[in-house]
Amino acid sequence: MEKSLIVKKSKIHGKGVFANRNFKKGSIVIKYNLKPLTKKEFENLSESEKHFTSFENNKYWLFPSPERFVNHSCNPNTNPDLVNKYDIAIRDIKKGEEITTDYRKDNVPGLDMKCNCRSKNCKLVIKNKTN
Ligand SMILES: [Zn+2]
Repeated sequence: MEKSLIVKKSKIHGKGVFANRNFKKGSIVIKYNLKPLTKKEFENLSESEKHFTSFENNKYWLFPSPERFVNHSCNPNTNPDLVNKYDIAIRDIKKGEEITTDYRKDNVPGLDMKCNCRSKNCKLVIKNKTN
């Protein structure tokens, strides 16, 4: 686990990832070291573990910790770079702020969840464009 990030209880949902130092706009906040899964391995995961997966390039990917605890926000402070597998700060992030991203850009299979991010432009329900 990187020292620049910590996992603790979140007001948005369950656990969240928090900045343990300041991040400048445009810098890499979190790298995604995703573990590839076969279809069978994916199907054998518990329902709660399936929330920590994505489907890209015809493969299932499991998010390790702390990446799996990044919460969605409709007004996120990071933007995913899907090619290089990291989240970039889209504004300056101060130490202690929760790191958030837009799940709709991450191709989470069967994404359909209520949002509790409390931002002004909250969509209330988060769904993939594809479902
Ligand atoms: Zn929201």
